[in-house]
Amino acid sequence: MIVKNLRREQLGGNVRLSADIVHETVPAPFAVIYYEVEERHADLLTDSYAPFLIAALVPAVFHGEARIVVEGDVAPLLVAGLRCVMGWHHHWYGKRHAPIAIEAGTRATALPRRPSAVYLSGGIDSMFTLRRNQLGFPAGHACRADSAILVNGFDVRRPDAIRIARDHVQQIADAATLELITVSSNVPLLDDDYPLWAKQFGGAAFCSVAHALAPGFQRVWFSANSPIPDLTPWTLHPATDPNYSSADVEIRQEGLEFTCVEKVRLLAHWDVALRHARVCTRNPVDRLNCGQCEKCIRTQLAFLLAGRLSDASVFPNDDITVAQVRAVRIRNEGQARDNHDLVRELRAAGRANLARAVAANLREYEKWVAWRDGTGLRHRAARVLGFRH
Ligand SMILES: [Zn+2]
Repeated sequence: MIVKNLRREQLGGNVRLSADIVHETVPAPFAVIYYEVEERHADLLTDSYAPFLIAALVPAVFHGEARIVVEGDVAPLLVAGLRCVMGWHHHWYGKRHAPIAIEAGTRATALPRRPSAVYLSGGIDSMFTLRRNQLGFPAGHACRADSAILVNGFDVRRPDAIRIARDHVQQIADAATLELITVSSNVPLLDDDYPLWAKQFGGAAFCSVAHALAPGFQRVWFSANSPIPDLTPWTLHPATDPNYSSADVEIRQEGLEFTCVEKVRLLAHWDVALRHARVCTRNPVDRLNCGQCEKCIRTQLAFLLAGRLSDASVFPNDDITVAQVRAVRIRNEGQARDNHDLVRELRAAGRANLARAVAANLREYEKWVAWRDGTGLRHRAARVLGFRH
Protein backbone atom coordinates (compact mmCIF):
# COMPACT_ATOMS: atom_id res chain seq x y z
CA MET A 1 0.00 0.00 0.00
CA ILE A 2 1.31 3.45 -0.91
CA VAL A 3 0.34 6.65 0.89
CA LYS A 4 1.10 9.67 -1.27
CA ASN A 5 0.15 13.07 -2.66
CA LEU A 6 -0.45 14.90 0.63
CA ARG A 7 -2.32 18.13 -0.12
CA ARG A 8 -4.46 20.86 1.36
CA GLU A 9 -7.57 22.27 -0.35
CA GLN A 10 -10.08 25.02 0.34
CA LEU A 11 -13.70 23.75 0.09
CA GLY A 12 -16.24 26.48 0.71
CA GLY A 13 -15.85 27.48 4.35
CA ASN A 14 -13.73 24.42 5.17
CA VAL A 15 -10.12 23.32 4.70
CA ARG A 16 -9.39 19.71 3.75
CA LEU A 17 -6.15 17.75 4.20
CA SER A 18 -6.05 14.75 1.82
CA ALA A 19 -3.77 11.93 0.69
CA ASP A 20 -4.11 9.11 -1.82
CA ILE A 21 -4.14 5.48 -0.64
CA VAL A 22 -3.13 2.99 -3.33
CA HIS A 23 -3.10 -0.80 -2.87
CA GLU A 24 -0.10 -2.68 -4.30
CA THR A 25 -0.75 -6.37 -3.62
CA VAL A 26 -4.52 -6.72 -3.81
CA PRO A 27 -6.97 -5.33 -6.39
CA ALA A 28 -8.76 -2.69 -4.35
CA PRO A 29 -10.07 0.71 -5.42
CA PHE A 30 -7.86 3.77 -5.15
CA ALA A 31 -9.02 5.88 -2.18
CA VAL A 32 -8.68 9.53 -1.22
CA ILE A 33 -8.75 9.94 2.56
CA TYR A 34 -9.30 13.32 4.16
CA TYR A 35 -9.57 15.30 7.39
CA GLU A 36 -11.58 18.51 7.16
CA VAL A 37 -12.08 21.41 9.57
CA GLU A 38 -13.72 24.81 9.45
CA GLU A 39 -11.51 27.51 7.90
CA ARG A 40 -11.06 29.25 11.27
CA HIS A 41 -9.32 26.06 12.51
CA ALA A 42 -7.11 25.63 9.41
CA ASP A 43 -3.93 26.35 11.38
CA LEU A 44 -4.58 23.22 13.45
CA LEU A 45 -4.13 20.90 10.44
CA THR A 46 -0.83 19.07 10.11
CA ASP A 47 1.57 19.01 7.14
CA SER A 48 2.59 15.44 8.04
CA TYR A 49 1.64 12.03 6.63
CA ALA A 50 1.26 10.69 10.19
CA PRO A 51 -2.58 10.58 10.30
CA PHE A 52 -2.75 8.82 6.94
CA LEU A 53 -0.16 6.21 7.93
CA ILE A 54 -2.10 5.45 11.14
CA ALA A 55 -5.42 5.31 9.28
CA ALA A 56 -4.13 3.07 6.49
CA LEU A 57 -2.14 0.60 8.58
CA VAL A 58 -4.92 -1.70 9.88
CA PRO A 59 -6.65 -2.00 6.48
CA ALA A 60 -3.25 -2.63 4.82
CA VAL A 61 -2.54 -5.57 7.13
CA PHE A 62 -6.11 -6.89 6.91
CA HIS A 63 -6.14 -6.66 3.09
CA GLY A 64 -2.91 -8.67 2.79
CA GLU A 65 -0.63 -5.85 1.62
CA ALA A 66 3.07 -6.79 1.87
CA ARG A 67 4.18 -3.34 3.08
CA ILE A 68 3.03 0.23 3.59
CA VAL A 69 5.08 2.94 1.89
CA VAL A 70 4.76 6.59 2.87
CA GLU A 71 6.05 9.09 0.31
CA GLY A 72 7.15 11.53 2.99
CA ASP A 73 8.60 11.82 6.48
CA VAL A 74 7.01 10.43 9.66
CA ALA A 75 8.10 10.71 13.30
CA PRO A 76 10.34 7.70 14.13
CA LEU A 77 8.67 7.18 17.53
CA LEU A 78 5.32 6.75 15.76
CA VAL A 79 6.75 4.13 13.36
CA ALA A 80 8.18 2.20 16.33
CA GLY A 81 4.82 2.44 18.12
CA LEU A 82 2.87 1.22 15.09
CA ARG A 83 5.11 -1.86 14.95
CA CYS A 84 4.07 -2.58 18.55
CA VAL A 85 0.39 -2.09 17.64
CA MET A 86 0.75 -4.65 14.82
CA GLY A 87 2.47 -7.00 17.27
CA TRP A 88 -0.47 -6.78 19.68
CA HIS A 89 -3.05 -7.30 16.91
CA HIS A 90 -1.10 -10.34 15.66
CA HIS A 91 -0.97 -11.75 19.20
CA TRP A 92 -4.71 -11.16 19.77
CA TYR A 93 -6.22 -11.99 16.38
CA GLY A 94 -3.92 -14.51 14.67
CA LYS A 95 -1.79 -14.94 11.58
CA ARG A 96 -4.03 -12.97 9.21
CA HIS A 97 -2.87 -9.93 11.18
CA ALA A 98 0.89 -10.57 10.92
CA PRO A 99 2.98 -7.35 10.93
CA ILE A 100 4.08 -5.80 7.63
CA ALA A 101 6.97 -3.47 6.81
CA ILE A 102 6.58 0.30 7.21
CA GLU A 103 8.73 2.28 4.75
CA ALA A 104 8.80 6.01 5.50
CA GLY A 105 11.24 8.88 5.70
CA THR A 106 12.32 10.08 9.14
CA ARG A 107 10.91 13.41 10.30
CA ALA A 108 13.78 15.29 11.90
CA THR A 109 11.88 18.26 13.30
CA ALA A 110 9.56 18.42 16.29
CA LEU A 111 6.76 20.88 16.98
CA PRO A 112 7.00 23.44 19.81
CA ARG A 113 5.00 23.11 23.03
CA ARG A 114 1.23 23.21 22.46
CA PRO A 115 -1.92 22.78 24.62
CA SER A 116 -4.02 19.64 25.21
CA ALA A 117 -7.43 18.59 23.90
CA VAL A 118 -10.04 16.01 24.86
CA TYR A 119 -12.23 13.81 22.67
CA LEU A 120 -15.80 14.65 23.65
CA SER A 121 -18.86 12.65 22.62
CA GLY A 122 -21.04 13.86 25.51
CA GLY A 123 -21.44 10.42 27.12
CA ILE A 124 -20.45 9.40 30.65
CA ASP A 125 -16.93 8.26 29.74
CA SER A 126 -15.86 11.40 27.87
CA MET A 127 -17.53 13.76 30.36
CA PHE A 128 -15.71 11.94 33.17
CA THR A 129 -12.42 12.40 31.30
CA LEU A 130 -13.15 16.11 30.89
CA ARG A 131 -14.19 16.55 34.53
CA ARG A 132 -11.11 14.72 35.85
CA ASN A 133 -8.95 16.85 33.56
CA GLN A 134 -10.42 20.11 34.82
CA LEU A 135 -10.26 19.01 38.46
CA GLY A 136 -6.73 17.63 38.14
CA PHE A 137 -4.95 20.36 36.19
CA PRO A 138 -5.24 24.11 36.81
CA ALA A 139 -5.82 26.55 33.95
CA GLY A 140 -2.59 27.10 32.03
CA HIS A 141 -1.18 23.66 32.88
CA ALA A 142 0.16 21.82 29.81
CA CYS A 143 -2.06 18.78 30.53
CA ARG A 144 -5.29 20.77 30.88
CA ALA A 145 -7.51 20.48 27.80
CA ASP A 146 -8.48 23.85 26.36
CA SER A 147 -10.34 22.34 23.40
CA ALA A 148 -12.75 19.50 22.65
CA ILE A 149 -12.59 17.38 19.49
CA LEU A 150 -15.72 16.00 17.85
CA VAL A 151 -15.38 13.66 14.84
CA ASN A 152 -18.00 13.34 12.12
CA GLY A 153 -17.93 10.45 9.65
CA PHE A 154 -16.85 7.64 11.98
CA ASP A 155 -19.54 6.47 14.44
CA VAL A 156 -21.78 9.44 13.57
CA ARG A 157 -22.57 9.67 9.83
CA ARG A 158 -26.21 10.60 9.16
CA PRO A 159 -26.62 14.38 8.60
CA ASP A 160 -29.37 14.70 11.24
CA ALA A 161 -27.30 12.68 13.78
CA ILE A 162 -24.24 14.86 13.03
CA ARG A 163 -26.28 18.02 13.66
CA ILE A 164 -27.72 16.69 16.95
CA ALA A 165 -24.30 15.49 18.15
CA ARG A 166 -22.67 18.79 17.22
CA ASP A 167 -25.37 20.90 18.97
CA HIS A 168 -25.14 18.73 22.07
CA VAL A 169 -21.34 18.73 22.34
CA GLN A 170 -21.23 22.47 21.57
CA GLN A 171 -23.44 23.08 24.64
CA ILE A 172 -21.08 21.02 26.82
CA ALA A 173 -18.02 22.77 25.39
CA ASP A 174 -19.60 26.19 26.05
CA ALA A 175 -20.56 25.22 29.62
CA ALA A 176 -17.06 23.87 30.27
CA THR A 177 -15.38 26.86 28.50
CA LEU A 178 -13.73 24.76 25.78
CA GLU A 179 -13.16 25.56 22.11
CA LEU A 180 -14.95 22.90 20.02
CA ILE A 181 -13.02 21.59 17.00
CA THR A 182 -15.21 19.58 14.62
CA VAL A 183 -13.30 17.27 12.25
CA SER A 184 -14.97 15.52 9.33
CA SER A 185 -13.20 12.51 7.88
CA ASN A 186 -13.83 9.52 5.61
CA VAL A 187 -11.22 7.14 7.06
CA PRO A 188 -13.82 4.27 7.37
CA LEU A 189 -13.88 4.27 3.54
CA LEU A 190 -10.70 2.17 3.67
CA ASP A 191 -12.65 -0.74 5.20
CA ASP A 192 -16.20 -0.57 6.57
CA ASP A 193 -16.22 -4.05 8.12
CA TYR A 194 -17.76 -3.60 11.59
CA PRO A 195 -15.78 -6.29 13.51
CA LEU A 196 -12.52 -4.87 12.12
CA TRP A 197 -13.62 -1.37 13.17
CA ALA A 198 -14.64 -2.51 16.65
CA LYS A 199 -11.54 -4.60 17.34
CA GLN A 200 -8.69 -2.69 15.64
CA PHE A 201 -9.45 -0.02 13.09
CA GLY A 202 -11.69 2.39 15.04
CA GLY A 203 -9.08 3.23 17.67
CA ALA A 204 -6.44 3.80 15.00
CA ALA A 205 -8.86 6.06 13.10
CA PHE A 206 -9.56 8.24 16.15
CA CYS A 207 -5.84 8.44 16.95
CA SER A 208 -5.17 9.50 13.34
CA VAL A 209 -7.42 12.53 13.91
CA ALA A 210 -5.26 13.56 16.87
CA HIS A 211 -2.26 13.53 14.51
CA ALA A 212 -4.18 15.47 11.86
CA LEU A 213 -4.48 18.24 14.49
CA ALA A 214 -0.84 18.02 15.63
CA PRO A 215 -0.04 21.74 15.13
CA GLY A 216 -2.86 22.54 17.58
CA PHE A 217 -2.44 19.93 20.29
CA GLN A 218 0.49 18.21 21.93
CA ARG A 219 -1.62 15.83 24.00
CA VAL A 220 -5.07 14.35 23.31
CA TRP A 221 -7.10 12.70 26.07
CA PHE A 222 -9.16 9.64 25.20
CA SER A 223 -11.70 7.91 27.45
CA ALA A 224 -11.46 4.32 28.63
CA ASN A 225 -14.78 2.54 28.27
CA SER A 226 -13.88 -0.46 30.44
CA PRO A 227 -12.18 -0.63 33.83
CA ILE A 228 -8.96 -2.66 34.05
CA PRO A 229 -10.55 -5.92 35.36
CA ASP A 230 -12.98 -5.96 32.40
CA LEU A 231 -10.41 -5.37 29.63
CA THR A 232 -10.43 -7.67 26.62
CA PRO A 233 -8.66 -7.21 23.25
CA TRP A 234 -10.40 -4.20 21.72
CA THR A 235 -9.84 -1.26 19.44
CA LEU A 236 -9.03 1.19 22.24
CA HIS A 237 -6.83 -0.63 24.73
CA PRO A 238 -4.02 0.53 27.04
CA ALA A 239 -1.66 -1.99 25.41
CA THR A 240 -2.00 -0.34 22.00
CA ASP A 241 -3.14 3.27 22.46
CA PRO A 242 0.11 4.80 23.79
CA ASN A 243 1.85 3.35 20.73
CA TYR A 244 -0.05 5.79 18.52
CA SER A 245 1.95 8.61 20.17
CA SER A 246 4.93 10.42 18.63
CA ALA A 247 7.33 13.14 19.69
CA ASP A 248 4.66 15.61 18.53
CA VAL A 249 1.39 14.01 19.75
CA GLU A 250 0.82 12.15 23.00
CA ILE A 251 -2.21 9.84 23.21
CA ARG A 252 -3.46 9.47 26.78
CA GLN A 253 -6.31 7.30 28.06
CA GLU A 254 -8.24 8.38 31.16
CA GLY A 255 -10.52 6.44 33.49
CA LEU A 256 -9.16 2.88 33.34
CA GLU A 257 -9.26 2.55 37.11
CA PHE A 258 -12.94 3.51 37.48
CA THR A 259 -16.22 1.60 37.02
CA CYS A 260 -19.22 3.28 35.43
CA VAL A 261 -20.84 3.73 38.86
CA GLU A 262 -17.69 5.42 40.15
CA LYS A 263 -17.57 7.72 37.12
CA VAL A 264 -21.18 8.79 37.66
CA ARG A 265 -20.41 9.39 41.35
CA LEU A 266 -17.92 12.08 40.28
CA LEU A 267 -20.16 13.53 37.55
CA ALA A 268 -23.22 13.65 39.83
CA HIS A 269 -21.81 16.78 41.47
CA TRP A 270 -21.12 18.64 38.23
CA ASP A 271 -24.03 20.69 36.92
CA VAL A 272 -22.79 20.37 33.32
CA ALA A 273 -23.23 16.58 33.51
CA LEU A 274 -26.61 16.86 35.24
CA ARG A 275 -27.86 19.00 32.34
CA HIS A 276 -26.03 17.52 29.35
CA ALA A 277 -24.94 13.85 29.79
CA ARG A 278 -26.21 11.86 26.82
CA VAL A 279 -26.17 8.08 27.18
CA CYS A 280 -29.29 6.87 25.35
CA THR A 281 -28.87 4.24 22.65
CA ARG A 282 -32.27 5.01 21.10
CA ASN A 283 -31.23 8.53 19.99
CA PRO A 284 -34.64 10.18 20.58
CA VAL A 285 -35.12 13.38 18.54
CA ASP A 286 -37.03 15.41 21.17
CA ARG A 287 -34.74 14.86 24.19
CA LEU A 288 -31.25 13.67 25.05
CA ASN A 289 -32.23 10.45 26.88
CA CYS A 290 -35.35 8.26 26.61
CA GLY A 291 -35.08 7.21 30.26
CA GLN A 292 -36.24 3.64 29.56
CA CYS A 293 -33.55 1.75 27.57
CA GLU A 294 -30.96 -0.45 29.27
CA LYS A 295 -28.25 2.21 29.25
CA CYS A 296 -30.62 4.94 30.44
CA ILE A 297 -31.86 2.76 33.32
CA ARG A 298 -28.32 1.68 34.25
CA THR A 299 -27.05 5.26 34.25
CA GLN A 300 -30.06 6.55 36.19
CA LEU A 301 -29.45 3.86 38.84
CA ALA A 302 -25.87 5.13 39.12
CA PHE A 303 -27.13 8.72 39.60
CA LEU A 304 -29.66 7.36 42.14
CA LEU A 305 -26.80 5.70 44.05
CA ALA A 306 -25.00 9.05 44.07
CA GLY A 307 -28.17 10.66 45.52
CA ARG A 308 -28.52 13.00 42.52
CA LEU A 309 -31.06 11.47 40.12
CA SER A 310 -33.76 14.02 40.99
CA ASP A 311 -31.24 16.80 40.19
CA ALA A 312 -30.26 15.26 36.83
CA SER A 313 -32.60 17.19 34.53
CA VAL A 314 -31.15 15.32 31.58
CA PHE A 315 -33.21 12.25 32.65
CA PRO A 316 -37.04 12.14 32.84
CA ASN A 317 -37.21 10.12 36.09
CA ASP A 318 -36.71 11.25 39.71
CA ASP A 319 -36.70 7.65 40.94
CA ILE A 320 -36.43 4.18 39.38
CA THR A 321 -38.92 1.40 40.05
CA VAL A 322 -38.45 -2.36 40.04
CA ALA A 323 -40.85 -2.55 37.08
CA GLN A 324 -38.68 -0.13 35.06
CA VAL A 325 -35.57 -2.20 35.78
CA ARG A 326 -37.29 -5.47 34.87
CA ALA A 327 -38.52 -3.99 31.59
CA VAL A 328 -34.98 -3.82 30.14
CA ARG A 329 -32.96 -6.63 28.56
CA ILE A 330 -29.20 -7.08 28.96
CA ARG A 331 -27.76 -7.93 25.53
CA ASN A 332 -23.98 -8.20 25.73
CA GLU A 333 -21.04 -8.90 28.04
CA GLY A 334 -20.17 -5.23 28.50
CA GLN A 335 -23.67 -4.45 29.74
CA ALA A 336 -23.58 -7.56 31.95
CA ARG A 337 -20.32 -6.45 33.62
CA ASP A 338 -21.73 -2.99 34.37
CA ASN A 339 -24.92 -4.55 35.76
CA HIS A 340 -22.91 -6.84 38.06
CA ASP A 341 -21.28 -3.69 39.49
CA LEU A 342 -24.74 -2.20 40.01
CA VAL A 343 -25.99 -5.24 41.96
CA ARG A 344 -23.06 -4.94 44.35
CA GLU A 345 -23.45 -1.17 44.76
CA LEU A 346 -27.26 -1.29 45.17
CA ARG A 347 -26.96 -3.96 47.87
CA ALA A 348 -24.32 -1.93 49.69
CA ALA A 349 -26.60 1.13 49.50
CA GLY A 350 -29.54 -0.79 51.01
CA ARG A 351 -31.59 -0.80 47.78
CA ALA A 352 -32.20 -4.56 47.95
CA ASN A 353 -35.34 -4.53 45.81
CA LEU A 354 -33.54 -2.80 42.92
CA ALA A 355 -30.51 -5.05 43.38
CA ARG A 356 -32.76 -8.13 43.09
CA ALA A 357 -34.37 -6.71 39.94
CA VAL A 358 -30.98 -6.13 38.27
CA ALA A 359 -29.82 -9.61 39.39
CA ALA A 360 -32.97 -11.13 37.83
CA ASN A 361 -32.14 -9.38 34.54
CA LEU A 362 -28.62 -10.82 34.73
CA ARG A 363 -29.97 -14.36 35.28
CA GLU A 364 -32.16 -13.98 32.19
CA TYR A 365 -29.15 -12.78 30.21
CA GLU A 366 -27.07 -15.75 31.35
CA LYS A 367 -29.87 -18.15 30.40
CA TRP A 368 -30.05 -16.51 26.99
CA VAL A 369 -26.28 -16.86 26.52
CA ALA A 370 -26.48 -20.56 27.47
CA TRP A 371 -29.30 -21.05 24.94
CA ARG A 372 -27.41 -19.09 22.26
CA ASP A 373 -24.21 -21.06 22.76
CA GLY A 374 -26.03 -24.36 23.01
CA THR A 375 -24.55 -25.21 26.39
CA GLY A 376 -27.96 -25.31 28.05
CA LEU A 377 -29.27 -27.87 25.57
CA ARG A 378 -26.10 -29.94 25.75
CA HIS A 379 -26.18 -29.90 29.55
CA ARG A 380 -29.82 -30.99 29.58
CA ALA A 381 -29.13 -33.77 27.07
CA ALA A 382 -26.12 -34.88 29.11
CA ARG A 383 -28.18 -35.02 32.26
CA VAL A 384 -30.95 -37.03 30.57
CA LEU A 385 -28.44 -39.47 29.09
CA GLY A 386 -26.45 -39.72 32.32
CA PHE A 387 -23.21 -38.27 30.87
CA ARG A 388 -20.82 -36.24 33.00
CA HIS A 389 -18.69 -33.34 31.71
ZN1 LIG B 1 -32.48 5.57 26.47
